[in-house]
Amino acid sequence: KLRVTNLVKTFGTNNVLKGINLTVNENEVVVIIGPSGSGKSTLLRALNRLEEPTSGSIVIDNVDIASKGVDIDTVRENIGMVFQHFNLFSNLSVGENIMLAPVELKKETKEQASAQAKKLLKTVGLEEKFDATVQSLSGGQQQRVAIARALAMNPDIMLFDEPTSALDPEMVGDVLAVMKDLAKKGMTMIVVTHEMGFAKEVADRVVFVDDGQILEQGTPDQMFEHPKNERLQDFLNKIL
Ligand code: ATP
Ligand code: MG
Repeated sequence: KLRVTNLVKTFGTNNVLKGINLTVNENEVVVIIGPSGSGKSTLLRALNRLEEPTSGSIVIDNVDIASKGVDIDTVRENIGMVFQHFNLFSNLSVGENIMLAPVELKKETKEQASAQAKKLLKTVGLEEKFDATVQSLSGGQQQRVAIARALAMNPDIMLFDEPTSALDPEMVGDVLAVMKDLAKKGMTMIVVTHEMGFAKEVADRVVFVDDGQILEQGTPDQMFEHPKNERLQDFLNKIL
């Protein structure tokens, strides 16, 4: 379980997160929506300590990972993150990309890590790509490898920041299917996406962020069919 309390992030005079309060339960899928520049990526990055919170707390398993003394490597082992741009190592093979962190950080043997990598490649539909070069893959395939790489650390929570928005339209479905599969298996997930179909179908809860604040949250039905907040209504009118 993850509990974010009064999370504030400022860049200089730019107050980007203005006191976020958010609880995510185990096995829950939370989809975050909101306009460009509203702070969605900053929020996810703060959860992974890619950004240092200015104030507030982020408590996971009774540990406040927003506090200064926390071991950031341990935080990142438990929270997997997938970005819009997949950030795979292009000088390594697909298999090596997935094995890297388990071998370097978890001290797994190459045999353990490669067995696990092959299993994960199967779950993302890329069984035959273990020895392939990163460049030989399509964008959608690379993103699925990025998901497998994040899963290789056995995280408790997975964060996705617009994982399909850099992909050609015909690749989007494959990546969403992998994410849906993961949700079905009970993974706790926080997903920033503009894919409202995914939100409607997979999210347990949808959270609307605007100008660094959560203005409304609820089930997909509440949020999409009966939005209360005027800014959410405007936002939905623009994108649906
Ligand atoms: P988008 O939908 O376009 O991805 P977003 O909701 O993810 O937008 P953020 O990327 O979190 O928005 O950015 C929120 C605000 O924080 C923006 O005004 C941005 O300029 C600012 N910001 C983000 N990162 C930094 C940084 N490293 N330094 C200074 N300002 C930043
Ligand atoms: Mg963003």
